[in-house]
Amino acid sequence: QRQPLVIANWKMNGSRLLTSQLAAALREQAALLNDVAVVVCPPAVLLPNWQQEVFYDAVHLGAQDANEHAAGAHTGEHSLQLLSEAGADYVLVGHSERRQYYGDSSARVQAKVDAVLAHAGQKLKVVLCVGEQEHERDNGETVKVIEGQLATALANVSAAQLAHVVIAYEPVWAIGTGKTASPQQAQEVHAFIRNWLQQQYAAAAETVPLLYGGSVKADSAPALFAETDIDGGLIGGASLEPDAFLAICRAA
Ligand code: 13P
Repeated sequence: QRQPLVIANWKMNGSRLLTSQLAAALREQAALLNDVAVVVCPPAVLLPNWQQEVFYDAVHLGAQDANEHAAGAHTGEHSLQLLSEAGADYVLVGHSERRQYYGDSSARVQAKVDAVLAHAGQKLKVVLCVGEQEHERDNGETVKVIEGQLATALANVSAAQLAHVVIAYEPVWAIGTGKTASPQQAQEVHAFIRNWLQQQYAAAAETVPLLYGGSVKADSAPALFAETDIDGGLIGGASLEPDAFLAICRAA
């Protein structure tokens, strides 16, 4: 009953040219996507370019991050209001690159989740990213790490708000490395996440899309998306290649 969802995370890549190319590919192939929902998260400065290309029924836009404050002296940051005006309906929060390199502590991830869900009567959806590092998996701590990240980030989120939450499982060791978690490894963690959500939120947990991210390519996508608790993907590198990204969307 969950709609398949594929999200492109361009990270600090892409261009105006790639915007028109990927948008054209999405328009041409819209009919082949059936009921798959597609979200594109370009660098924020490209949101207005994307906004001109889109066709809102088929494709939604998202931001890769947002500041937790409404406005003010935060040089270089983007507010939810501005991102939303630029067309973003989704906001990624807690991506491992933000956590590792840009100081997004678990407290700040929590504040960002709260800010997205509080924004303008919950018009925005938050895509919460969680994932373990390689040494944590090797030490058998995967589930403990994921549970800690979920518990902190969702501490203030109610069952009603859960309708605006997407969770992306991105094992850090699989991001940009070409190493994909096997479908079984990914399903195991997704099942844990679903189960954890059910314990916290009962029936509301059923509708939360759980996405897998980490070196998803056109050839690895079908087996991953076939797993019961994998509802789609969060795609980095392959989202910069229109043919590969469209193939991944069709697999969802
Ligand atoms: P890659 O698909 O390039 O591994 O990136 C995954 C990711 O981090 C998406 O947010």
